[in-house]
Amino acid sequence: METGGGGETVEVATCACCGIGEECTARYVAGVTAQFGGTWVCGLCAEAIKDEAARRGVGLEVATRAHAEFVAGAGADPTIQVARALLQLLKRVIATAPGAPVMPPAAAAAQDLDM
Ligand SMILES: [Zn+2]
Repeated sequence: METGGGGETVEVATCACCGIGEECTARYVAGVTAQFGGTWVCGLCAEAIKDEAARRGVGLEVATRAHAEFVAGAGADPTIQVARALLQLLKRVIATAPGAPVMPPAAAAAQDLDM
């Protein structure tokens, strides 16, 4: 229970993407900040950014910016957020499936129901 010996400062870091706050040691914050181009991101966003970087073949800094814009844009409209998430999931499923059947994208979009 002794916490006075380490010299580790705990601070609340705020995610540059989703705005969530996490308690981290200063050393951890510095490490993440250095890795993601000067911004601190939470664990969830970090995973998403790494995934994005690998998929696009870009650096973490570029992916961080893209992810931040994605979250900011999607956050404005929950419907778009869900739609984009589904679209990404779909793309991934199609991309990883070995003889993926051709699915007409118009089939889903055609169901344009009036509210
Ligand atoms: Zn986040």
